[in-house]
Amino acid sequence: MNKIYNFSAGPAVLPGGALQDTAAAVVNYKNSGMSLLEMSHRSQPVVNLMAETNSLARRLLAVPDNYHIIWLQGGASTQFSMIPMNLLPKNETADYTDTGSWAAKAQKEAQAYGSVHVACSTKNSIYDHINKDLQQSSKAIYLHITSNNTIYGTQWKTFPETLNPEGYLVADMSSDIFSRPVDFNSFGLIYAGAQKNMGPAGVTMVIIRDDILGKVDRHIPTMLDYNTHIDKGSAFNTPPVSAIFVVNRTLHWLDDLGGIRVIEQRNKVKADKLYAEIERNLLFKSPIAEEDRSLMNVPFVFAEDGDEKEFLDFCTKHGLMTLKGHRSVGGFRASIYNAMPEAGVDALVAAMREYESQHS
Ligand SMILES: *Cc1c(COP(=O)(O)O)cnc(C)c1O
Repeated sequence: MNKIYNFSAGPAVLPGGALQDTAAAVVNYKNSGMSLLEMSHRSQPVVNLMAETNSLARRLLAVPDNYHIIWLQGGASTQFSMIPMNLLPKNETADYTDTGSWAAKAQKEAQAYGSVHVACSTKNSIYDHINKDLQQSSKAIYLHITSNNTIYGTQWKTFPETLNPEGYLVADMSSDIFSRPVDFNSFGLIYAGAQKNMGPAGVTMVIIRDDILGKVDRHIPTMLDYNTHIDKGSAFNTPPVSAIFVVNRTLHWLDDLGGIRVIEQRNKVKADKLYAEIERNLLFKSPIAEEDRSLMNVPFVFAEDGDEKEFLDFCTKHGLMTLKGHRSVGGFRASIYNAMPEAGVDALVAAMREYESQHS
């Protein structure tokens, strides 16, 4: 049987070694005789695991000392509410960039907490590019961006500057965290659900600059208050330890490869190969503006009519799984996150060529 490559957008491919380490930890964690799943989050091995994961994430991303890193539950979707609840006073404005479905969901949630201004939208062209000509409010507390639009396959290649010199960026990096370096200077808060590029579902990483909190006077439920989790080292209540363990092993895999600069280079090589084939192949085309094409999620469609199910079945026979486009756009989408090996992209390109030769 062919080797299987999983191109799912999320939950997504993880490094094989991380999965093996997880299997072992679930049976007997570090020779304790206990499964990691059975261990208290107050036990020393788990306290150590959490601390080590934090310092590893901090080192890999070069997170400055004045930022906290916390690990939460509820997915990136809970952050859509927690961000305005904690950061946006009722009578103030936040700017949002409408670059995709997740961006729009974040924007919708914020409306309940303050005034929301839409700085750009590409909804009318089915989010096929990013409009970088932003109409920002002069006093926006923050500007929210989605660094990589998982569904549509666009990505901010450089980040915008806030018009308000006191303002800061808030970024949903769920689908490209740890794929490229981040210059933290302009960011107040970065969040990412783990299940795209750093682990399994069940944990969300939030990185917060320490001076942006404490500026709203509304009641914030204890569990939704960033300060709760900062003060208690992400262990105010029972944290998702097993998910954090998988993140830990995935980040060690990344560190062993050489870190963010090395993976960024690999990601470019993989994406270049795939986009080049989409351009060359007569059967397929990219619906996305060239300068905004994501290195993580690569959507493509038939250039003319074609039988989508037939191509997907053909891919499945070649061990190329989960290539169906998101239900809102159709076509195909190859998610080629950090853990997708270049060989997976090579196998997809070979299959696209073979399919072309059978159909032209
Ligand atoms: C998947 C995704 C989300 C939603 O994540 P959940 O963890 O399911 O809430 C939000 N934003 C982006 C960019 C995503 O890719």
